[in-house]
Amino acid sequence: MSENDRRPMFAANWKMHLGPADAEAFVGRFRDLYAPRGDARVVFFPPYLSVAAFLAASGDRPDLELGVQDVHQEEGGAHTGAVSASMAAQSGALWCLAGHSERRREFGDDDELIAAKVGRILAAGLRPVLCVGETLGEREAGRLEEVLSRQLAAVLTRLSDEDRARLTYAYEPVWAIGTGRTAAPSDAAEAHGLVRSEIGRAGGVVGATILYGGSVKPGNIDELLAAPGVDGVLVGGASVDPESFAAICSSGR
Ligand code: PEP
Repeated sequence: MSENDRRPMFAANWKMHLGPADAEAFVGRFRDLYAPRGDARVVFFPPYLSVAAFLAASGDRPDLELGVQDVHQEEGGAHTGAVSASMAAQSGALWCLAGHSERRREFGDDDELIAAKVGRILAAGLRPVLCVGETLGEREAGRLEEVLSRQLAAVLTRLSDEDRARLTYAYEPVWAIGTGRTAAPSDAAEAHGLVRSEIGRAGGVVGATILYGGSVKPGNIDELLAAPGVDGVLVGGASVDPESFAAICSSGR
């Protein structure tokens, strides 16, 4: 797959849902509902414990790609409970999230740590999906541009040109994640435009894939995908139900 693949991307962030048995059942059902389509990419981010079950159930469906939700910032060592990027690559993962707002809020992943993780992800040959987005307070205080700029620059300025070209991005307004509140397509388009110009300012690829994330569901996927600059979606809640995620992935079909 080329780095500049511009097919729409549908990504499922399962978070702490779907253990091995549930993951196997999900994939079994999803495969029946979703036939491979050459004009889109579908990527799943299951919890680590469900990676093997996901791979076993999706074995002959290489169009269902595997990603992981997080890695440690070190290559290895005495870090109880942690998983390295190279282990994730060894397990068959192709992608890894970085900077998800739940990691920033619950686990203290700050800009510096996220930059270190992205470095490890790239060094292991995985493709990072760098998540950025503002809280409601930041938006209401008129700080959208400043927050996006800081989050992007913290990572991009530490990377080589070659590595910067391997990044995929997700714009996820924190106030829309898991809340049922979705950004209006015009707000998503505006924020994606800001993300794109900040990427350019920080030396990244202006035409990179930028996903929208925040309460995406079958009822709003079409209008969000039609918004200028939205290249795909990162879906949480609606991605753990095979029917709803298959409906999302079938958008535009
Ligand atoms: C997410 O976790 O990235 C997300 C967008 O969640 P939800 O779709 O549930 O808002």
